[in-house]
Amino acid sequence: MQDFNITVSTIIANLVGGLIFFWVDRFIFTSPYLAPQWEIREKVQCADCGDIAKGFRLVRARNYDRTRDPKPEFRCEKCSERKLQELKLRGVRTE
Ligand SMILES: [Zn+2]
Repeated sequence: MQDFNITVSTIIANLVGGLIFFWVDRFIFTSPYLAPQWEIREKVQCADCGDIAKGFRLVRARNYDRTRDPKPEFRCEKCSERKLQELKLRGVRTE
C-alpha cells in the first residue's frame, strides 16, 4: 500500500506540475497584456530615410509579431515614430 501511495502522489505531482507549466506558458505566449517589445540597435541605417542612427524596430505587440523577421527593418527615431502611427492605423495595438 505504501508503494502504491508513492506512485499515486508522484503521478499527481507530475500532473499538477505539468498543468502549472502549461498555463504559465500559455499566459506568457498569449497574454493580451504583453508589453510591446522593441529592438534597439546603435548605428544602423534607417529603412526609410537612410540615415545612420540609433535604430528602432517593433518586434512584437499584442497582435503583431516580427520575432522571426528574416530582414528586420530598423528606423531612426523620427521614422519609427511615423511608422508606429502607420501600424496603429493598420490596427496594431502598440500600447
Ligand atoms: Zn529615418
